[in-house]
Amino acid sequence: MKYDVLIIGAGPGGIFSAYELLKQDPALKIAVLEAGNPLEKRHCPIDNKKIKRCIGCSTCAIMNGFGGAGAFSDGKYNITNQFGGTLYEHIGRGEALSLMRYVDALNLQFGGEGTKLYSTANSRLKKICLQNDLHLLDAQVRHLGTDVNYIVLQNLYAHLSEHVDFYFRCYAKQIEKTKDGYRVIAGEECFDAPYCIVSTGRSGSKWMESICSALGIHTKSNRVDIGVRVELPAEVFSHLTDELYESKLVYRTKKFQDNVRTFCMNPRGVVVSENTNGIVTVNGHSYEDPSRYTENTNFALLVSNHFSEPFKDSNEYGESIARLSNMLGGGVIVQRFGDLIRGQRSTESRIRSSFLKPTLSATPGDLSLVIPKRQMDDIIEMIYALDKVAPGTASDETLLYGVEVKFYNLEVEIDENLETKHKGLYVIGDCSGVTHSLSHASASGVYVARHLVQTRKEKNEQKH
Ligand SMILES: Cc1cc2nc3c(=O)[nH]c(=O)nc-3n(C[C@H](O)[C@H](O)[C@H](O)COP(=O)(O)OP(=O)(O)OC[C@H]3O[C@@H](n4cnc5c(N)ncnc54)[C@H](O)[C@@H]3O)c2cc1C
Repeated sequence: MKYDVLIIGAGPGGIFSAYELLKQDPALKIAVLEAGNPLEKRHCPIDNKKIKRCIGCSTCAIMNGFGGAGAFSDGKYNITNQFGGTLYEHIGRGEALSLMRYVDALNLQFGGEGTKLYSTANSRLKKICLQNDLHLLDAQVRHLGTDVNYIVLQNLYAHLSEHVDFYFRCYAKQIEKTKDGYRVIAGEECFDAPYCIVSTGRSGSKWMESICSALGIHTKSNRVDIGVRVELPAEVFSHLTDELYESKLVYRTKKFQDNVRTFCMNPRGVVVSENTNGIVTVNGHSYEDPSRYTENTNFALLVSNHFSEPFKDSNEYGESIARLSNMLGGGVIVQRFGDLIRGQRSTESRIRSSFLKPTLSATPGDLSLVIPKRQMDDIIEMIYALDKVAPGTASDETLLYGVEVKFYNLEVEIDENLETKHKGLYVIGDCSGVTHSLSHASASGVYVARHLVQTRKEKNEQKH
């Protein structure tokens, strides 16, 4: 099957490349190959309450399918260069911010109008945090919420599917270089095009590694973030979340001089489990619709681990720790902060008798048997630091779910156009290792689409 452009992966990166390609040149023949299902067929059996724990479906409804890993996310769209990726290192700070704003406007156009944009600018909370050794990172945050995010995706699909060929349950196995461009082999099918945009996200990280090695593209990997998801009564953090929605706070620990940060804050949200390549970890989200609010707020506390030579497999380090928690708890482990401090495991009855009710059914256990001492001490120190700006954080009843691992994809060698050493082969979004968020991944898609159309135009002009 012959196309002008092949896009592998229908997450935010793939979706916004398709959108912008179409906008810049409506005559383009575009195919999107997606390993997962269309949006309406993405159903996690845990959400349907059919089962309690992850059973490792052949395609994970949370991670794969139209909308990518972001489809059931909280839809927190951060407009900032301070976190969420390092796209600015390739395309410049101004361009990166302007593209994030462009995508934000599209999200509003496709169903997100009326959602709130939060900002850290001029917040007096910044001073209070600094007085307590906590650093509040600058950002604007659009909170779409899981429900509105879904509507935006539905509308984008309705718009795109009129002009773009989508192939679902279509797992790209190989990418081969041909005389005129690239051939993607997916099952029995072959797709050919002069241009190929790879946007396979975090779930495609191992596949990306094999593709890079087959095509001789240089990669590097040296980071993984490990921690827990904290759940507490929403009132404890309400002064921060009401004003900022998500506060990204960084703390340098006194003991190990490590940076611990808050990540993915979900006011009145739920804690969820997540399956990446068969390993069950923890995550969280929340809804924009007040009828779906819970009484709890959750957020992750993560410790960044940077490794130097000769160790290269940082993700394997994170996976090993997650596997350990899966081995002991059969999935996610939950422990009360007080139990952790007293050196005792949590039990069903202790959790049941707490005032704080967990939003995820996890196995009560002992996180100190899973998380290495250094990271565990870092997390405990951070909880006491947070307790100064949000008293109640270090309560006995605060729940810690583990483990939360933030895997970083291999960094793929790409240039300022997000193009590999093979002309016409672009690697964008989270699978490039450059982005780790909805906003950066989406912006990278728009950027590449514009570059591709411009290059194609110049080539055609040269021919004639
Ligand atoms: C539960 C959860 C909550 C999150 N919440 C937020 C949030 O609030 N804000 C935020 O900024 N970020 C959030 N994130 C992260 C965000 O979703 C990702 O950064 C973003 O989706 C990356 O976009 P992407 O297009 O690069 O990749 P993805 O969204 O991962 O999409 C990649 C797609 O490629 C497909 N694919 C993979 N391999 C192949 C193959 N070989 N052939 C064909 N298709 C393939 C996958 O099925 C997938 O659909 C969250 C992630 C999760 C899991």
